[in-house]
Amino acid sequence: MGTTALTADVLVVGFGKGGKTAAHALTDAGQRVILVERSANMYGGTCPNVGCVPTKMLVHYSNSRRLEDDAQEFFANSVAGVRALTSAFRAGNFEALNGKDTATVITGAGSFVDPHTVAVGEGPDRITVTAPTILINTGSEPMLPDIAGLVNSKHRVSSTDLIQKDQLPERLVIIGGGYLGLEFAAIYQHFGTQVTVLESADRLLRREDEDVAQVVADVLAGDGIRLITGASAVDVRDHDTTATVVYEKDGRTLTVEAEAVLAATGRRPVIAGLNLEAAGVRATSHGAIEVDEYLRTSQPHIFALGDVNGGPQFTYVSLDDARIVLDQLLGDGKRNTADRVAVPQTLFITPPLATAGLTEKEARAEGRAITVSRENVADIIAMPRAYTVEETRGVIKFIVDADTDLILGAALLTIDAQEMINLVTLAMRHGITATQLRDSIYTHPSSTEAFNEVFDKVVR
Ligand SMILES: Cc1cc2nc3c(=O)[nH]c(=O)nc-3n(C[C@H](O)[C@H](O)[C@H](O)COP(=O)(O)OP(=O)(O)OC[C@H]3O[C@@H](n4cnc5c(N)ncnc54)[C@H](O)[C@@H]3O)c2cc1C
Repeated sequence: MGTTALTADVLVVGFGKGGKTAAHALTDAGQRVILVERSANMYGGTCPNVGCVPTKMLVHYSNSRRLEDDAQEFFANSVAGVRALTSAFRAGNFEALNGKDTATVITGAGSFVDPHTVAVGEGPDRITVTAPTILINTGSEPMLPDIAGLVNSKHRVSSTDLIQKDQLPERLVIIGGGYLGLEFAAIYQHFGTQVTVLESADRLLRREDEDVAQVVADVLAGDGIRLITGASAVDVRDHDTTATVVYEKDGRTLTVEAEAVLAATGRRPVIAGLNLEAAGVRATSHGAIEVDEYLRTSQPHIFALGDVNGGPQFTYVSLDDARIVLDQLLGDGKRNTADRVAVPQTLFITPPLATAGLTEKEARAEGRAITVSRENVADIIAMPRAYTVEETRGVIKFIVDADTDLILGAALLTIDAQEMINLVTLAMRHGITATQLRDSIYTHPSSTEAFNEVFDKVVR
């Protein structure tokens, strides 16, 4: 048997959010779609298998642990619960697409052989797929910092390894205090692990305003997480059951020991193995696939969606990438990445931090006339919900244009922030003013009621 040669109207490489959304819409529009996914454990991509869904489920489980629960047993049961949900989502993702008459999912790594053809597998099992339109949606993977002993340490774990282990580590060192690092720190600390975060910058969340970042640090430290800023990890030394992480801080060399070491220092686009040269698709100097604002690569019939194009690494951005590509293929071609306004983001610690738009620091640097409103959650009389669910930590801050009353930015560190921010960004996108948001009617008791009050708490 030789190579099996298939053709399709559209070929999608990678089963991420953008690729699968586009694949569904294109099949619904009558096109024949083939989707190639390299791993049978990844149907649906990073988010439902090893990203958003399992981590947010772990946030939920870890917060429901009672003091009398055995930490190890509770953790093992939680991991089993995560596995059950992710397997169901994975199977659902496969069936929903492969079950369609005009869609086929092929399992195996795809690699370009020419600008219109991708090969999967080798030898007698080799399949080639040729299509006039190709979407690349291969996601991102963890980047390992250049720290002596880290790569070969048997105690090094990736986020994917960590959430698949049944054994709760007694101690965990996290190198990197970014979003992923802090989410894992909170999850594992709540499960009962002693967590240390080593962050090389002099404070956490450098992009956020200092006052907001300080409350985040207070919340995490209050939960017992050891946060060491200004600390550069320089060496990882393995022992039988533990590793010693050597770090430098203020000119001193210090150590911390743990059963597991998580490097959370960012993720890079997955382009290795795609053989982009054969397709004539260019990569950027940062290793992402180069795209224009319509997500076309240097080959106009090939698009790149999601993390692989170097944009913000969020599932909902990959989804919006699919909207842009679909608009090119089926619509009037007007949508583009530049028309996005106020893309929110959430750090899922407890309580979560959700932000959008400009920080105070950024607005001032732009020379804008602004009004800053800010109130600690515990002091917001209009938001009894915080007291009813016994989570009164946090702060709500708004940056408002002093001339137009339009909201320029928000930082919500509060229970329900991941929901509230979507209302704020809707207002920002559609020109709803701070006063209109303040004077709106909200259900009671709810967290959005805070908006009735916070805008009046102007910081002088
Ligand atoms: C631990 C963690 C938590 C996260 N939490 C959140 C969150 O709460 N909210 C949020 O919005 N985002 C979160 N993210 C980010 C989010 O998961 C990603 O931004 C998103 O999943 C990227 O989707 P994508 O469409 O780019 O591709 P992905 O979902 O990454 O899918 C790419 C797919 O391509 C496959 N592939 C790669 N190379 C090939 C090849 N050569 N041939 C065939 N297939 C290939 C991969 O196996 C993978 O299945 C999190 C990420 C991580 C790691």
